[in-house]
Amino acid sequence: MFCLDLTSDIKSDKASLRNMGIIFGINPLIFKEKFMNSIFNFSAGPAMLPVDVMKQAQEEFCNWHGLGVSIMEMSHRSSQFLALAKEAEQDLRDLMNIPDNYKVLFCHGGGRGQFAAIPLNLLGDQLEADYLVTGHWSKLAIVEAKKYARISKMDIIIEKHGKTAVMPVSDWKINPTSAYVHYCTNESIEGIEIFDVPKTGKVPLVADMSSTILSRKINISDFGIIYAGAQKNIGPSGLAVVIVRDDLLGFARRSIPSILNYEIQANAGSMHNTPPTYSWYLAGLVFKWIKKQGGIGALEHKNITKSKLLYDCIDASTFYSNNVDLSVRSRMNIPFRLTNKGLNETFIRESTAAGLLSLKGHSSVGGMRANIYNAMPIEGVQSLVDFMVGFERKYS
Ligand SMILES: *Cc1c(COP(=O)(O)O)cnc(C)c1O
Repeated sequence: MFCLDLTSDIKSDKASLRNMGIIFGINPLIFKEKFMNSIFNFSAGPAMLPVDVMKQAQEEFCNWHGLGVSIMEMSHRSSQFLALAKEAEQDLRDLMNIPDNYKVLFCHGGGRGQFAAIPLNLLGDQLEADYLVTGHWSKLAIVEAKKYARISKMDIIIEKHGKTAVMPVSDWKINPTSAYVHYCTNESIEGIEIFDVPKTGKVPLVADMSSTILSRKINISDFGIIYAGAQKNIGPSGLAVVIVRDDLLGFARRSIPSILNYEIQANAGSMHNTPPTYSWYLAGLVFKWIKKQGGIGALEHKNITKSKLLYDCIDASTFYSNNVDLSVRSRMNIPFRLTNKGLNETFIRESTAAGLLSLKGHSSVGGMRANIYNAMPIEGVQSLVDFMVGFERKYS
């Protein structure tokens, strides 16, 4: 959802409204009318942020806590920023129940930066790592890791009653001599989410949680490393959160860039160099917002409700379809197709005009995709469902 301060006379702000309409390819008049009600942003990432967070950031943008400067303009070494950074970390620790033997790092480079950092930090003088393949992101993680290690790939996608499913975690064959095993808990493009956690024994389990972190409860101790690019459920892009068990520090290759070295970053409080301070600050506001929502358990409950609402709408119709097996359907990213492909463009045009933005599917998959991360309210999903039912009635 957008938030703009419209308390001043809206007519005086016509030009900027028109521009925003043009940005999203909407007739400015329609945009203005819809804008007064509500716009829901289904973007894959950077994704919508909670409205309350945006409003607070706007309020204190130029004058943070009465200091007369923006938090963006302050030294990362100032006592104020250090306190803010520590508080954000503590809030995340509280929310996710992170044990003391795990470090929490606020890094640069998003999710893909970690695709390189993981092998460089964990391989030491070992040569092999295991990677599970479930879709777009796990494949890209392999492309990066291959530069540094011999990768054993295991494709765990299977077909079940004509739908895409994932092999049960108990059947995953982990090589016991691997330096680590890597998988992606939520493939945001295919809409596949793995809810069970594999038992990998002594082999450290590394999880890319970029598009599912903070959306449901997990047990941190099941993992060696969890990492996530921020722009889905944490805050703005430019930041990656890494949660690493401390016995995994100290195995970095000598050639690793210091900025990617988890041990160096852990010892420097994630400030080996200037961290992405504004993203860190906004992440802290998001963590506070999650606490106010009742924590991850409450959000998980809401995410189950939201995703069920949309899947039920898709399943109840022959006009729409989703080809992912029930057991691994993502609660965050819901791809769906129109049976009549000829209506794709019309669907995008009319949904956009109705204030439902960014529903076009990823180019590699086609069709539509609704990304409904933590910040998407139930009303947003309900609006989409109402629109879809109406669209079907109109065109079937
Ligand atoms: C979005 C996403 C990424 C990409 O992160 P960047 O910050 O763009 O590098 C990686 N992995 C998963 C699972 C994602 O959903």
